Amino acid sequence: MGKKKNNPSHGPFALGMDMGGTKILAAVVDAEGQILAEAKLKTGAREGPDAVIQRMAEAARQAVRRAEVLWQQVIGLGVGAPGPLDPVHGIVHHAPNLPGWKEVRLGPRLSDLLGVPVFVENDVNLGTLGEHALGAGRGTRDLVGIFVGTGVGGGLILDGQLRSGYRHAAAEVGHMIVLADGPVCGCGKRGCLESVASRTAIDRDIRLGLAAGRQSLIPKLTKSRQRLTSGVLAKAWRKGDPLVTEVLGRAQWYLGLLTASIVNMIDPEMVVFGGGVVEALGDEFLDPIRTTARQYFIQQDDADAVQIVPAKLGDQAGVLGAAVHARRQASKHPASSVVGLKLPSGAR
Ligand SMILES: [Zn+2]
Repeated sequence: MGKKKNNPSHGPFALGMDMGGTKILAAVVDAEGQILAEAKLKTGAREGPDAVIQRMAEAARQAVRRAEVLWQQVIGLGVGAPGPLDPVHGIVHHAPNLPGWKEVRLGPRLSDLLGVPVFVENDVNLGTLGEHALGAGRGTRDLVGIFVGTGVGGGLILDGQLRSGYRHAAAEVGHMIVLADGPVCGCGKRGCLESVASRTAIDRDIRLGLAAGRQSLIPKLTKSRQRLTSGVLAKAWRKGDPLVTEVLGRAQWYLGLLTASIVNMIDPEMVVFGGGVVEALGDEFLDPIRTTARQYFIQQDDADAVQIVPAKLGDQAGVLGAAVHARRQASKHPASSVVGLKLPSGAR
């Protein structure tokens, strides 16, 4: 191997990992939040949990090798996984996009493979933590993250700390009801935000419009039966496509109502919007959301003081948040008490 990287820090370093339906991203991160090295592997979800866990361990090893740090310098591994999960014991209860994931002891198994403490958390929670610690929300105390993609996820930071709730199910903003008796949501209930403002909902409404004979650039921009991507959506929207503008306008309206409800509840300094749809459409997409939200703030004084901003870290929010989480958790639980994640019961 070559000479040591020009990195003045001697650690400890934290490993962050984001496990998605299609790819696994791992990164070695120093105390300042700088990524020293990354590794990316395909999830290969169809092969089931055992194969995926092996690949996650391999991604971690690759990242550590590339960063040219020693495992003894790695304080812990934070893993963002799709929920619902039990962060205390590192168990993924089930993961909708990952076949065979039922009560998988992800944390303990990774910890056995790698020999470092492993801290599993909800992926969107960690994305929000990343934005708070190292991205758009740096320096704020209370912040809410809203991530709009295939679904809509959220995260909550209060007093600078990630809050996952009594049953680890907090900040599920995608399932806040914004339209009583509205469309059926992925969760089976009606009228959740996700059922009217996710990319899945936007896709559905555009197809309904096309089926009703509305003119649109969408058929030209998508190959037949291909799912609508955020990139295609952005292209049609920038060209002023009337159907896309109308459907997105509806999604923006509901996102604005949601933001107002959240602000009326939490009164945070900042609401950060991320996820594939927001990344593709950019800050301009947030303008109508800001306008609607501010109309519905109950506290109208200094309404502009609540910042409604786009996320800054893009794809890296998850791994960076995971590394921040690992560092914080590892310092709360010294390695001697966490190796193999044999946490005393009730420990957080
Ligand atoms: Zn729902």
